[in-house]
Amino acid sequence: MFTAKGDVKLPTEPVIDQPQDGGGSSILVVDDEEIMRSFLHDVLSGEGYQVEVAPTGEEAVERFKEKEYDLVITDIKMPGIDGMEVLQEAKRLHPMTEVVVMTGYASLESAVESMKKGAADYITKPFNIDQIRIVVAKTLERRKLRQKAEDEEFYKHLSRTDGLTNLYNHRFFHQLLESEISRAKRFKQSVCLLMLDIDNFKIYNDKNGHLAGDQALKQLAWILDKSVRSCDIVARYGGEEFVVIAPQTDLEGGEILATRLNRLVREAKFDGEGVLPQGRLTISIGVASFPDQAADERSLIEKADRALYQAKAQGRDKVCIYGEKDKEAKGSGN
Ligand code: GH3
Ligand code: MG
Ligand code: MG
Repeated sequence: MFTAKGDVKLPTEPVIDQPQDGGGSSILVVDDEEIMRSFLHDVLSGEGYQVEVAPTGEEAVERFKEKEYDLVITDIKMPGIDGMEVLQEAKRLHPMTEVVVMTGYASLESAVESMKKGAADYITKPFNIDQIRIVVAKTLERRKLRQKAEDEEFYKHLSRTDGLTNLYNHRFFHQLLESEISRAKRFKQSVCLLMLDIDNFKIYNDKNGHLAGDQALKQLAWILDKSVRSCDIVARYGGEEFVVIAPQTDLEGGEILATRLNRLVREAKFDGEGVLPQGRLTISIGVASFPDQAADERSLIEKADRALYQAKAQGRDKVCIYGEKDKEAKGSGN
């Protein structure tokens, strides 16, 4: 329900290298002329492709509902549903399917039009065997690369993201903090780190159940993510702990940000929060900054963590700045 980042598509198939002999890629040939269908069927089957044929656009469209082809080769001019519609329907149902259109020299504009609508290439009739072989091989190679790029993107996203909240995970947070600190060193800027922890979350879980707990974590992640600047980084540090990296932000800015997040969470309505001691779900936040208070990543985390501990010790629902333990705790809780 609450997703902090956009949903991602599952990869459609594993990345496998296709052998030279067609690799079993599936092709649908759509043409109203029997002679073209059987010519293409024979040539492409000979190359090792899994070839099917359809005599009309209507039949092709029916098959798209059942099956995703790697490549569709369609004549443009056909009675009834024509090649342009076949192209559009193939792309609508299966965006990864490549489409090559066939057209006569006389109607080259329709080939250009089809490319604008997403066709990978076109072949002008009459064509020879080599031409068709090359266009098909090139198109399928391009498809394979496109698929590989999408899958890599997917797995990269997966390895960096926390499955429950869709925020960045612990591991990627460390990478990001390291790079933000080196950037800050280079440009002589500050970075603020906020460590946040839900107050009395064990009670919330025990009374409302683990599923409700998960839902609250998602909602909290969503609030945090939408309430920070776009260059700030929100991650799930673990369990019910979160972190915010605020680049180019000094301690004063970090305190303002933390105080705002603390207030937004207190004011948000969480299902079942009445069971908590204060009757609402709240967070405690520790803040520390680089380079004023910490010289490296490790010490920055340690100090923000110590400030968080301080906020808990002072009664929770509070913001504490590292090193300000003698000052009155910030936040409008107790
Ligand atoms: P404090 O105010 O001191 O932080 O108290 P607390 O109860 O929040 O802290 P404690 O560390 O004792 O308990 C944390 C609880 O967070 C334990 C567990 O029930 C809950 N929790 C941690 N991770 C998850 C999760 O992924 N899902 C759910 N539902 N609960 C979680
Ligand atoms: Mg905790
Ligand atoms: Mg807690």
